[in-house]
Amino acid sequence: NRQIQLVSRPQGEPTADNFRLVEAAVPALSEGQVLVRNHFLSLDPYMRGRMNDGKSYAQPQPLNEVMLGGTVGEVVESRNEHFKVGDKVVGMGGWQEYQLVDASQRGVLQKVDTTHVPLSAYLGAVGMPGVTAWYGLVKIINPKAGETVVVSAASGAVGSVVGQLAKARGARAVGIAGGADKCRYVVEELGFDACIDYKEHRDMKSLSAALKAACPDGIDGYFENVGGIILDAVLLRANAFSRVAMCGMISGYNGEPIPMAAPQLILVNRMKVEGFIVSEHMEVWPEALKELGTMVATGKLKFRESVAEGIAAAPEAFLGLLKGKNFGKQLVKLV
Ligand code: NDP
Repeated sequence: NRQIQLVSRPQGEPTADNFRLVEAAVPALSEGQVLVRNHFLSLDPYMRGRMNDGKSYAQPQPLNEVMLGGTVGEVVESRNEHFKVGDKVVGMGGWQEYQLVDASQRGVLQKVDTTHVPLSAYLGAVGMPGVTAWYGLVKIINPKAGETVVVSAASGAVGSVVGQLAKARGARAVGIAGGADKCRYVVEELGFDACIDYKEHRDMKSLSAALKAACPDGIDGYFENVGGIILDAVLLRANAFSRVAMCGMISGYNGEPIPMAAPQLILVNRMKVEGFIVSEHMEVWPEALKELGTMVATGKLKFRESVAEGIAAAPEAFLGLLKGKNFGKQLVKLV
């Protein structure tokens, strides 16, 4: 069972040296336990926060232990009456090939149906990132038909779902993403109304002019994934009584300061700004997953994946995710 452990904490940008590949024995099962062969590992920005020791919304990752992470896989041995060999499951298997689970604890392992939804999608559009998009859009922004919703990191796992859900509710969806390829995909494949390449607009003046052109009626809802100058530019174009779902601020995850140029605009525009952590809203997961699963199964919700091959490739793929090298949901394929 090959695993990736965290061996040191990064100062600023993490490096491959913070991780170690180890070979561990596949443990024997006791009563109530299930052995899962992980097929895909999910790499997510929150993992950067867990690499630190300090206070964050996520608990620190212990050193010299397997990195925590979401996985999908297949039951290969079972001593639990609720799971049989061949069941497809989603869980928190970690950065490793096999996972031994005490499946008698409710909820640690969920069976999933792969008839109409591919297994890997349960880590993306029909998993935690999808529910994140759903919560911020539906519960915080709650767009009316005809309103304009802007989302940053628009081609990514969360952002891609935000825009498509907004469109499904009759809103206008405008993405912000890094690079012409990502922007083309967001408009042509995902069906957003427009997408702004922030790498082409590096200063406030240029970015806010691009936003003005893409959002002629102003901005009613903003789904924030990035922070910094992008947030400043959006606030300048925000309408009265607009809503901001504060989901992530990836531009500051390595400790960079993220100053706000004009917080008074929140007051001037009478805005509602709400942060949230998706795992604290388990009550919405069934409703959200139902809508997301149906949309994927019927081809109404599209997604894209960046897939690294093999557990040894996980650290590099994770470092790439923090720099925007991924294009869509970042996964590691383990079999
Ligand atoms: P993505 O698939 O969107 O990948 C991350 C993307 O962020 C990159 O592809 C890149 O896109 C962009 N990015 C990286 N660094 C920077 C930077 N310095 N400046 C601007 N953009 C950058 O990841 P997810 O969809 O999984 O996550 C998106 C956001 O949602 C993150 O902030 C994450 O922390 C947050 N999140 C929050 C949750 C919650 O409960 N609150 C739950 C899940 C996710 P590009 O090339 O376009 O710049």
